Amino acid sequence: MARYTGPVCRMCRAEQRKLMLKGARCSSDKCPLNKKRGAPGKDPKARAGKKSEYAIQLAEKQKLRRMYGLLEKQFRLTFDRAARMSGVTGANFVQLLERRLDNVVYRMHFAVSRNQARQLVRHGHVLVNGKTVNIPVYEIKAGDVIEIKEKSKKLSVVQDALNEISKSGTMPWVSVDVDAVKGTFTSIPRREEISDLADIKEQLIVEYYSK
Ligand code: SF4
Repeated sequence: MARYTGPVCRMCRAEQRKLMLKGARCSSDKCPLNKKRGAPGKDPKARAGKKSEYAIQLAEKQKLRRMYGLLEKQFRLTFDRAARMSGVTGANFVQLLERRLDNVVYRMHFAVSRNQARQLVRHGHVLVNGKTVNIPVYEIKAGDVIEIKEKSKKLSVVQDALNEISKSGTMPWVSVDVDAVKGTFTSIPRREEISDLADIKEQLIVEYYSK
């Protein structure tokens, strides 16, 4: 599957927001956003003009897409699915993104970034309810148990990521047994529970795709 392979920090600079794509580096002084550099290709002294409605909607869509590390096609397919579901499309959309296996592996701190989580899944290091699943988009249900294979538990990328639990804890909808490198997706998160998306206005994305 195609994926973005360019410099990821550039995406954060374009958004002028930490998208947390590089694990521990993102919380350290090495993060370029801590150096107050402007967006790539922009004259920092240039005056910001008034953005059109379309530009605002597009920017919100790009921000969320980059956070989850998806290419447009995959992102759009997920949105289309959310739109077909009953309930509020924006909330459905965010919940579907959260239920991707690669995202759940990241949320459980078995990887420091969603990109790294995707690699772990693709390379067959992850079990869902005891069976190998190597499909990053695989949809996790409430109650599913996700674990790292026995032979992969000692991988430094996994252990380094697990160390972060003691600093930042886990999201309320996952519970993790650090010693067993195993976790349960206890419930589908409510939109308001997803605290790191508090500034995302998914309604703008709904409007963008509804044109
Ligand atoms: Fe973004 Fe992390 Fe790079 Fe900072 S270090 S710019 S948060 S990916």
